[in-house]
Amino acid sequence: MTKTINPLAFNAAFKYAPAPESKTHIQLKPRYDLFINGKFTAPSSGKHFDSINPANELKIAEIAEANEKDVDMAVKAAKTAYEKVWSKMAPKERGKYLFRIARMIQEQARELAVIESLDGGKPIRESRDIDIPLVAAHFFYYAGWADKLDYAYPNKKPVSLGVAGQIIPWNFPLLMAAWKIAPALACGNTVVLKPAETTSLTALKLAEIIQESGLPEGVVNIVTGFGNTGAAIVNHPGINKIAFTGSTDVGKIIQKSIAGTNKKCTLELGGKAANIIFEDAPIDQAVEGIINGIYFNQGHVCCAGSRLFVQESVYDMVIRILKDRMETLIVGDPMDKNTDIGAINSKNQLDTIRKYIKYGKEDGAEMFQPSCEVPNKGFWCRPTLFMNASQSHRIVQEEIFGPVLAVQTFRTVDEVIEKANNTPFGLSAGVWTDKGSKIFNLTSKLRAGVIWANTYNKFDPTSPFGGYKESGFGREGGLHGLGAYLNFN
Ligand code: ADP
Repeated sequence: MTKTINPLAFNAAFKYAPAPESKTHIQLKPRYDLFINGKFTAPSSGKHFDSINPANELKIAEIAEANEKDVDMAVKAAKTAYEKVWSKMAPKERGKYLFRIARMIQEQARELAVIESLDGGKPIRESRDIDIPLVAAHFFYYAGWADKLDYAYPNKKPVSLGVAGQIIPWNFPLLMAAWKIAPALACGNTVVLKPAETTSLTALKLAEIIQESGLPEGVVNIVTGFGNTGAAIVNHPGINKIAFTGSTDVGKIIQKSIAGTNKKCTLELGGKAANIIFEDAPIDQAVEGIINGIYFNQGHVCCAGSRLFVQESVYDMVIRILKDRMETLIVGDPMDKNTDIGAINSKNQLDTIRKYIKYGKEDGAEMFQPSCEVPNKGFWCRPTLFMNASQSHRIVQEEIFGPVLAVQTFRTVDEVIEKANNTPFGLSAGVWTDKGSKIFNLTSKLRAGVIWANTYNKFDPTSPFGGYKESGFGREGGLHGLGAYLNFN
């Protein structure tokens, strides 16, 4: 029998004192230019835009807006670096640069974590314990592969592609940059990377690290800007591969734009992951996994467990424990080490989430939100639970990218497989059960690229990540992530 406590009484008894992370050690410039050919270069338009802190709406720094001319310069720099230096360098030497960058990221980990939380709104606990350690781990991992490509692909003669255009979103800003840059460089390619417009700062700090590491000029170029900067990369004839992580809508535009060219492409797009709890699951552990899967990081995760399927016999118990746990979640200052749920990344994203909460109510699902306070300034959303959701509801079919969970019930294994697979997406899923055979049965039948069993949202540079259906194609991470940056003769 699961013992529960009264969460309101618990919160009243154990109020955490503020535990803010210090910001004194970070170094930020008031204005950032484009990182092209190893130098920070003013954008040819002369235009900069503000990057703001979503927790208080204050400006942090100005970011350069790159146009087609700037992108052209960046691609040309990458091409020259590819032809003259990087592709000719001994793989072992390339590996050394990657190891050096990995170590420098570790040295600056605290500063990078603080900037990530300031710029993106995610809790410091997450950027400090998850994002930045994984960033360093990716560089270390791919550094190790740089001189072993022939062993990774025996008798296949792997060769680099040329210049990779890489476009990333705002949910894991520096981690996405590492996912893209590290394997591309290890395989001998050079890159032009564009961070998302609301979270460019850590990519620009990475540019400083890269500059300091002595990486040859032009091997990594970082151009900041909006969708049209991304489009200029996609459409540039000097680009040999596009690696994109972002929305399914933009993924479709990119695929259309490169149709008929010989640009290689990997797309990591949206998701609508099912988290499935069977009656034999360790329920407390499962609820903690559900909370981690959808509410931590504000649901700003493409593999967020945004649909919950609970076996009917344990439904009442799961909902009770889930609601109790939601009452104890701390929403607020991302810089506080006790915060569970930080700020929503932007006003636009908050509007989207609010629209879906409205849809959920209109479509007839029953809403629950805990009674927590949220700050007045900034972009905030209470963790939200929708019970009695059904397959046709928009909150069940469409990606929200926010802390909104839609719950449905099921009776049999076949029923839940059918329901879980019934979305246009197929990025990830979670299964909670004591029975290994059930796990194997489900993992072979769920159409999702990543399936976690009795855990959720665990990442490692050695394991591939990617989706089915409208969640995209191609894999990043692990050996598969290397293959995406190589041709085989
Ligand atoms: P999200 O909805 O997660 O913000 P987007 O797909 O809009 O995702 O953005 C992901 C990245 O794609 C961002 O860096 C954004 O600037 C870029 N982007 C947006 N529109 C385009 C486009 N038409 N072509 C290329 N990149 C784009």
